[in-house]
Amino acid sequence: MKPRTIAEPYKIKMVESIRMTTREERELAIREAGYNTFLLRSDDVYIDLLTDSGTTAMSDMQWSMMMRGDEAYAGARSFYRMEAAMQEIYGFRHLVPTHQGRAAEHITSQIRIKAGQYVPMNMYFTTTRAHVERAGGIFYDCIIDEAKDPWSDFPFKGNVDIAKLQKLVDEKGAASIAYLNIAPCVNMAGGQPFSMANLREVSAWAKQQGLPIIFDATRAVENCYFIQQREEGYREVPIRKILREMMGYGDGCTMSSKKDNLVNIGGFLATNDDAFFVKAKELVVVFEGMPTYGGLAGRDMEALAQGMREMVEDDYIASRVRQVEYLGQQLMDAGLPIVRPVGGHAVFLDAKRFLPHLSQDQFPSQTLAAALFVDSGVRAMERGIVSAGRDPITHDHVRPALELVRLTIPRRVYTNLHMDVVAESCMALYENRERINGLRMVYEPESLRFFQARFEELEAVTV
Ligand SMILES: *Cc1c(COP(=O)(O)O)cnc(C)c1O
Repeated sequence: MKPRTIAEPYKIKMVESIRMTTREERELAIREAGYNTFLLRSDDVYIDLLTDSGTTAMSDMQWSMMMRGDEAYAGARSFYRMEAAMQEIYGFRHLVPTHQGRAAEHITSQIRIKAGQYVPMNMYFTTTRAHVERAGGIFYDCIIDEAKDPWSDFPFKGNVDIAKLQKLVDEKGAASIAYLNIAPCVNMAGGQPFSMANLREVSAWAKQQGLPIIFDATRAVENCYFIQQREEGYREVPIRKILREMMGYGDGCTMSSKKDNLVNIGGFLATNDDAFFVKAKELVVVFEGMPTYGGLAGRDMEALAQGMREMVEDDYIASRVRQVEYLGQQLMDAGLPIVRPVGGHAVFLDAKRFLPHLSQDQFPSQTLAAALFVDSGVRAMERGIVSAGRDPITHDHVRPALELVRLTIPRRVYTNLHMDVVAESCMALYENRERINGLRMVYEPESLRFFQARFEELEAVTV
């Protein structure tokens, strides 16, 4: 017998209209946007899977807590409520709010990195690496090799390869490392989790070397769900407890609250390190605001505190990740090349295999994201050579192993019928894939180029 359907643990109280456009309108819109989905107007988009960042639907509880925001400049009640929620849910001692995740990365990098030091990470993330490099640090990739194979079904592709860490220490010494930056549900690898067993080993190794672990905790809860489902001994453990155990292996975190925390804006850094906390408060005043608001309104901090409590409800996080799986499964069943296993926040199309007739320098992921928009008004994001940017020394393109299009599912926003529309569009493109031509970059910003780069279509290759 087919297993019984499990529905979302919420019902819809308010709706926002979305509009389907014509193909002609979409062709014009993508040309005007320089074939960059970041430059489209959201009014031209039908189903927006650009990102799960800040696109969450908030709950009635979060909206009502916003009315209780204390907008005092200093010492706002709302800060203390956010601090208490962070201490309860994440377990760190000190909180510094920031306007979003990259501000926490900025402050952390400026304080913790001495020029020339390495920062090992389980794969890079765009803003994290940008801030490490601005502080004079050097990104060092310590993710396991399986993460770079989109066809590997390994259940914990976000794991850290301790041999790679040891190699760095053997060659350069532990003093050459600023800290370990460990990300749950590694975004750039396809939302892939690490296991608790791996984290435990990394933590023991880091202690031996005297190195702090700073999490990029952005998608920690989704990682906890995979641990609960896949790792022995966690099946009956509530997500709340898994998260506390995970964070307990670190010395602090940076956080983009626009993801796990179920809010539209916000972030923070948290730490157990008293000296670091003092310095972080000095810097946050310069860049963000007083340490009791850090660029956030009182109402934002209220919504965030409530969001932290909702995100660790087991039913919620199961339904969130299962919706991503629902889309991924349809594409797999139809034989489309996607990153496996399906990640926690997004389904990633493998553009190298989807468009094998394009070279990496013809920007296959950028091309495929543009084609998907023209086909159905679905907006996705490039995660390939454009996102990887240029080598700071040689200035050549960094050519990443993975060339992906990310279909990112906002939290609590779309229904599974929307997922069906997305799946049908991907399948239609796959059937006609040899008709899709590559792109040429005509404008390239110096840093984080994927946000604003512009492209033109290459001439059709006649067959
Ligand atoms: C979004 C994100 C960030 C940056 O956070 P912002 O809130 O966008 O500044 C950092 N790390 C990861 C893994 C992210 O997904």
